[in-house]
Amino acid sequence: MPEPEPDLRKKYDAVIIGSGAAGGMAAHVLTGHGLQVLLLEAGKKLNIEQELRSMEWPYDNAHRGGLPPGSHALNHNEYTIRRPPYGPGFEKSKNLYSYIGSTDYVKNIVVNERENPYTGTNYAWVRARCLGGKTNIWGRLALRLSDYDFKAKDRDGYGENWPISYSDIAPYYDKVDLYLGITGVKENLPYLPDSLFQRATKLNCAELTLKKGIQKMGRVLTQYRAGVTTDGLKHNKYRSRCYGRGACSRKGGCDIHAAFDSPTGLIYPAMDTGNLTLRTNSVAREITVDPQTGKASGVHFTDSETLKDYTVRGKAVIVAASTLESARLLLLSKSRLYPNGLANSSGHVGHNFCEHIMGPYVAGQATDLVGKPPTLDDGRPGSFYLTRFRNLSEKHPKFIRGYGFEGGSGSGMFPPGTDSPGFGASFKEEIRRNQGSHIAMGAFGEVLSRYENFVDLDPVVKDKWGIPALRFHYKFGDNEHRMAADMKETAQEMFEAAGFKIIFVSDRVLTEGWSIHELGTARMGDDPKTSVLNQFQQSHDVKNLFVVDGSAFVNASCQNPTWTIMALCWRSCDYLADQLAKNDL
Ligand SMILES: Cc1cc2nc3c(=O)[nH]c(=O)nc-3n(C[C@H](O)[C@H](O)[C@H](O)COP(=O)(O)OP(=O)(O)OC[C@H]3O[C@@H](n4cnc5c(N)ncnc54)[C@H](O)[C@@H]3O)c2cc1C
Ligand code: SF4
Repeated sequence: MPEPEPDLRKKYDAVIIGSGAAGGMAAHVLTGHGLQVLLLEAGKKLNIEQELRSMEWPYDNAHRGGLPPGSHALNHNEYTIRRPPYGPGFEKSKNLYSYIGSTDYVKNIVVNERENPYTGTNYAWVRARCLGGKTNIWGRLALRLSDYDFKAKDRDGYGENWPISYSDIAPYYDKVDLYLGITGVKENLPYLPDSLFQRATKLNCAELTLKKGIQKMGRVLTQYRAGVTTDGLKHNKYRSRCYGRGACSRKGGCDIHAAFDSPTGLIYPAMDTGNLTLRTNSVAREITVDPQTGKASGVHFTDSETLKDYTVRGKAVIVAASTLESARLLLLSKSRLYPNGLANSSGHVGHNFCEHIMGPYVAGQATDLVGKPPTLDDGRPGSFYLTRFRNLSEKHPKFIRGYGFEGGSGSGMFPPGTDSPGFGASFKEEIRRNQGSHIAMGAFGEVLSRYENFVDLDPVVKDKWGIPALRFHYKFGDNEHRMAADMKETAQEMFEAAGFKIIFVSDRVLTEGWSIHELGTARMGDDPKTSVLNQFQQSHDVKNLFVVDGSAFVNASCQNPTWTIMALCWRSCDYLADQLAKNDL
């Protein structure tokens, strides 16, 4: 799609920074209101279909889908043993990626760690710097939050409540469902509200056995609620319906865009309105401020290729660079009026940083399926989600909040068990006999939001563009470790209840950051002394500044955040457009 050159003399109604789930949604909503919008994205516009090659067979790839020589993706041990920045020690690898960058298909989507260093405590920070950001390769699990999350403090006394309730955001979840498409099954659970689902995927034999096995424990297993259109979307010409090719799980990303991604779901349709100007390769380095009014006046950015600097002007500035990059940008935007960074009179920018703890899991086998004919299970955009059950009606004695499990079973292109001993024809036969019987699941739990978990700017280390790097001060706490021990126990107990043979069970906690669900660095609240944004993600300090990504979350809940990021953003951008129309920004 041709991109018009932005007119840098013009004052745009809104300048958006970042083109992922949040920036894409802001572009969609604001252009829909008829506003003239400029979208700045630090990364390139990739030929994404060429990158993802969803239908490529492993044997047609020079490295069977792995990275080419000279490239390396960090593994769990390396994250644990080494401290960031992770470049030193890997001099032989010209390209160094986060753990997600371990395939040929995502190597140009995730950042090169050398160009984008960070420092401080261990953290597996996954960043995608290209048009669409992380939505090009996200795992698609699309869940709602409920008042068990928004009003969690009322239930256990910890932290803060959100300044909104489920009823405030429910209509916006509906809008996101209808505009982008989601598959799943209604369960009528008060703690995990249903979406407006399209055609559901099917559970397979072992998954149904687990579902039934845990019903007597009052626990719920449901189809993976995937941000994927299974029926198609008549209003979107850039996306196909899902053909169940299963390739999204194998490689990340869907080259026919049945799985939601921000460019085809939001940005290209916004460009079709004629109201959106997109500039890629534009690294925002500061939000500029009018010293007379104290309001945001625009954005100072560097072209990532030519290294030329530019400043653009906007009536409103919308920060959507992802939770940690947005905090970095606010902290970088220091001025005489705002010496601690923009929107930071509370001192909370970068703080209350939270996410999900991952690691504990169980692998097992439905022995009655051994030797049964293979089924076609590879063709689903997701398998199952086992919903939260802790601290709902009862109170757990050892920890607060909850966790859920993501898992799957069935015959796939890469069957489990290939690491078992043996070789030759008998080995292959053994793998074939067992493959459809394997089942596994891993937990995602809420990491409590704590002021002491924070990011700030490193005084020395800078990125490729000379911009100060982010420094982490972040660790899981006792509540998370006690929860992880419980995850292991309940995983095992549920597999036993289903009658599965347990093959492996682990309570090993993965490095901080592994969940790629970072949240909370500019939380919303009613009190400007303890929060950065109001309920519309508008800065308490700077009226025409909005931060519309996961930064605004007050707690992490245990549900994956992207659907909530987009619903909140839609609500905030409706408000922004209304205020702009009233000349009240
Ligand atoms: C492998 C993987 C699996 C995931 N699975 C799930 C899942 O199953 N469910 C779920 O809910 N979530 C999942 N996520 C997380 C999900 O992708 C994020 O929640 C979502 O993309 C956040 O949107 P965002 O707009 O805040 O950030 P991003 O999508 O990261 O977009 C931010 C954009 O801002 C740009 N940017 C950053 N800094 C600057 C700057 N200074 N100037 C200009 N532009 C800038 C970046 O280049 C990027 O394009 C997953 C993520 C990954 C990587
Ligand atoms: S299973 Fe559906 S969403 Fe996943 S790659 Fe195939 S078509 Fe795309």
